Amino acid sequence: MTAADLAPHASATTGDAVAELTGVTKVYRKSAAAPPVYALRGVDLAIARGEHLAIVGASGSGKSTLMNILGCLDRPTDGSYRIDGAQVADMTDRQRSLIRGQRLGFVFQAFNLIPQLSILENAATPLFYQGVAAAERTERAAEALDRVGLDDRMHHRPAELSGGQQQRAAIARALVNKPALVLADEPTGALDTATSDAILELFDELHDAGVTLAVITHDPGVAARAQRTIVMRDGEIAEQHLTA
Ligand code: ADP
Ligand code: MG
Repeated sequence: MTAADLAPHASATTGDAVAELTGVTKVYRKSAAAPPVYALRGVDLAIARGEHLAIVGASGSGKSTLMNILGCLDRPTDGSYRIDGAQVADMTDRQRSLIRGQRLGFVFQAFNLIPQLSILENAATPLFYQGVAAAERTERAAEALDRVGLDDRMHHRPAELSGGQQQRAAIARALVNKPALVLADEPTGALDTATSDAILELFDELHDAGVTLAVITHDPGVAARAQRTIVMRDGEIAEQHLTA
């Protein structure tokens, strides 16, 4: 990495933005009397279609708040957020939850699979909430599982799979609605090194296939796989680097 790689507010790829934050501020107030906490302070960020972005920063720097806004789980106090052309800042909770189901995929550190359901049923869940018919849900979930290499494990429950396989199933679930943006929060945090590497290879393959990825991570090895890393500090994007 050289000074030339530091390009504030530049995007790793040209082209249209899938997600675009402009002047996004998030203020938390525990009570009317409590002092406000500025979790995000005027964040400008455009994630290009097909980009692989990493978000890093110390604890308390605003990563989760940023992720919650990108994921339409929360609304900015001020500023605008467009996902795939839709303006989220003005939406009701119900509209945001619809957009979330249609345009976003989520991958978590702890996989968050439903233990009582098969991998196939787990991968199909996002489609259930969108009212997709049962036969199509099954077909699309099977396709997504095939894509992550779990075609021979579809009828197993999560507990019958290894950690890496469970994360693959969770990735299939994140892909099943063909999201505009996949958000991953410490996706390899619960995995050993070899398994983490295999999951990162899978992310590389998805990126090569055109999936847009934003990954929150503490792990420099994970961030190094991304095209661009943004560093959060005190609610701001303090630095960003393009990977050589
Ligand atoms: P990170 O994920 O990088 O650790 P967060 O986004 O969780 O950072 O938090 C950023 C700041 O906002 C911190 O000072 C945190 O204490 C504060 N914060 C986060 N969520 C809330 C909340 N619900 N209420 C009050 N303060 C919050
Ligand atoms: Mg956090």
